[in-house]
Amino acid sequence: MKVLVVGAGPAGTRCAVRAAQRVPRAEVTLLSAELALPYDRVALSKLLAGEAEVADLITHPVAELATLGVTFRAGVAVAALDRAARVVTTQKGECLPYDRLVLATGSSAVRLPLPGAELPGVLAYRDLGDVRAMLRLAAQGGHAVVIGGGLLGLEAATGLAARGMKVTVVHAMGWPMDRQLDPEAGGLLSTRLGRRGIRFIMPAATVALEGERHVQGVRLDDGRLLPASLVVMSVGIRPNVALARDAGLEVARGVVVDDAMRSSDAAIYAVGECTEHQGRLIGLVKPALEQAEVAAAALAGEAACWQPVPDSAALKVSGTAVWSAGEISAETAEAIILRDEDAEEYRRLFLRDGRLVGAVLYGDTADAGYYMRLIAEQRVVESRAELVLGSSFMDAAA
Ligand SMILES: Cc1cc2nc3c(=O)[nH]c(=O)nc-3n(C[C@H](O)[C@H](O)[C@H](O)COP(=O)(O)OP(=O)(O)OC[C@H]3O[C@@H](n4cnc5c(N)ncnc54)[C@H](O)[C@@H]3O)c2cc1C
Repeated sequence: MKVLVVGAGPAGTRCAVRAAQRVPRAEVTLLSAELALPYDRVALSKLLAGEAEVADLITHPVAELATLGVTFRAGVAVAALDRAARVVTTQKGECLPYDRLVLATGSSAVRLPLPGAELPGVLAYRDLGDVRAMLRLAAQGGHAVVIGGGLLGLEAATGLAARGMKVTVVHAMGWPMDRQLDPEAGGLLSTRLGRRGIRFIMPAATVALEGERHVQGVRLDDGRLLPASLVVMSVGIRPNVALARDAGLEVARGVVVDDAMRSSDAAIYAVGECTEHQGRLIGLVKPALEQAEVAAAALAGEAACWQPVPDSAALKVSGTAVWSAGEISAETAEAIILRDEDAEEYRRLFLRDGRLVGAVLYGDTADAGYYMRLIAEQRVVESRAELVLGSSFMDAAA
């Protein structure tokens, strides 16, 4: 059986490897539009910050893939899909047949359609090419502006600051990581990153990027011009669905899949950030890998079912422990707060009907796993004191 996997991010690579192991007599081919071996996208922030080398990011050397039974081809972008003929056509015009196709095309970074957005020096933060371009510009020093103070924007900002740039973060909301943190934890975080030289302008909006042959500055809606020889746009992601949509597959925001990761065409599966399952997109690597396992099992004819669990997110900035999970809106849940100002530690737990539905940890994230389990289990919390102090404190006390 010819299994063709389009996209060699974490989801596509995992699915290809597992399909080669599980599907009898499978010929598995993994195609990547990027000119790189499969690498750990999550670790790009370490590369940017100088805490890892490119070689450290490679997850599957080509010889290892061959041993596992996967033919890997880099620099091959699929341009079209003919479902009736079961053939894909690459950008270079090559036709590749399949019996089963797996779409693992991931997401692209959203670029704001601002005047000047196409100027050299204006980058997204999504792949190895983006980080290489950032490192070239950072080597010249100067000012960088990061548009978007979400998780990735902050990782880009701290990485560029570690590389010696003067960094300003422009964020539309009043505190950074507003989707994962409450205002208080967000405030603690911006204060701490401010001590590392990162300036925050919030809430603020960018109206234009200025420069002649290269970006030179960022114009804000209050008229201010921020100098910048590098601008990183980190304002969200959008699933790559053009291939699926053009081929007539059911697509909403992502490629619509069932519990076994099957698309509206029984010969085509989709995994990772390009998918939409029960009306929801994913944006993290853990569910992408779980989906890949499920699709590989389904390809092997085994019963398989993906069950989403609540998301959790941690900021990967050394010396700054920040974690959040589940629902973090005080409007829909009761909040319990524990604050230690001297230790710069803060936690806020969100309860509904006596059950933990969300948590924000700042400064000490040792209990992340404990809270994640409680959120997933959905059982009624017996001791609020035990809940708020966390498992590591209770273990130490015992
Ligand atoms: C800097 C950074 C830090 C992150 N940190 C975290 C983190 O700490 N924790 C976390 O859980 N997640 C993190 N993420 C998100 C995580 O990387 C993604 O959730 C994950 O990569 C999704 O995997 P995927 O395989 O679905 O898609 P992707 O990793 O996007 O891979 C898709 C691949 O398909 C290729 N492709 C697309 N179209 C085609 C085509 N037509 N033909 C051939 N190839 C194609 C793309 O070029 C890409 O290589 C981070 C992301 C970034 C950018």
